Amino acid sequence: MEAEKLDWKNLPFGYLKTDYNIRTYYKNGAWGEIEASTSEFIDIHMAATALHYGQQAFEGMKAYRGKDNKTRLFRWEENAKRLNRSAQVLLMPEVPAGHFKEAINLAIKKNARFLPPYESGAALYIRPLLVGTGPEVGVKPAAEYLFIVFVTPVGPLLSAGFIPVDFSITHEFDRAAPLGTGHVKAGGNYAAGLRAMKKAQKEGYASVIFLDAKEKSYIDECGPANFFGIKDNTYITPKSHSILPSITNRSLQDLARQMGMKVEVRPVPVEELETFEEVGACGTAAVISPIGKVEDVDKGKSYNFGDGITPGPVSTRLYESLIGIQNGDLEDSFGWTKILD
Ligand SMILES: *Cc1c(COP(=O)(O)O)cnc(C)c1O
Repeated sequence: MEAEKLDWKNLPFGYLKTDYNIRTYYKNGAWGEIEASTSEFIDIHMAATALHYGQQAFEGMKAYRGKDNKTRLFRWEENAKRLNRSAQVLLMPEVPAGHFKEAINLAIKKNARFLPPYESGAALYIRPLLVGTGPEVGVKPAAEYLFIVFVTPVGPLLSAGFIPVDFSITHEFDRAAPLGTGHVKAGGNYAAGLRAMKKAQKEGYASVIFLDAKEKSYIDECGPANFFGIKDNTYITPKSHSILPSITNRSLQDLARQMGMKVEVRPVPVEELETFEEVGACGTAAVISPIGKVEDVDKGKSYNFGDGITPGPVSTRLYESLIGIQNGDLEDSFGWTKILD
């Protein structure tokens, strides 16, 4: 791939080959050296626990090039902590923060020519992945693991950018059980949610809203992102054990407070959709996807927000504030960004 020929302003949110990925292996109870590889392939045992029993977890974050040409990483320590929470839940070894940092820094540096230019709307997406590679046939955690970090330049998750999209509510599928693994970034949650997402997309929606699996009456995860609603100067987001704790969501809560809004993290009944002034989905990929309409086909209900084509004023302010901090245009009073040395 010739980085020089990339159309930065029209990059998809997808995989593009870069020059290097970074690998480190866990064997005999210890992590080995950090290595750079030019291969896009990994050679793992066919009986690896990741392949059979889903013993794996991943992360996702972005690096941005600022006006000053410096590279900024957004809250990487939070991703390191979250990966280790996933590791604890899935009985994998934790990746020490120093090891994590070294791997992502090296991944960015070795692929510096793929870091999109300032103001292109694109960023360098960083994907750390922890997989059980040791062979097992009986169900138990592997003895060996691989931690790999690859990067890929990405455009916005939705090519149209920051404009409202429509979501549907599924009553037919659950993504995660109340006491399952919905709160960790495990690939298995995505596999469980694929049918619902595919069905919604086939019906013309951007993605699907999952309800809580037990009572089916509260909003849970919002496609591959968290849900938030705005009303009465309040930022409201669901509290649930089966939702992945989004770093974007937590950052938006802090920004909302800084703007003088109230923040509520509590169960959000589906019917409350009727009362929100604005709703959206949030996560690293899109930061905020404003939602213009939520359709509950089974219940014959449709919830509309604004004119359906213009993002709401609060979502817009939150979005611009967060993006501004991430790319270094706005003052980072929270100390969220780290400049790569
Ligand atoms: C990664 C992810 C999010 C977003 O988390 P961020 O830290 O904001 O990127 C939300 N929901 C699910 C299911 C996720 O996997």
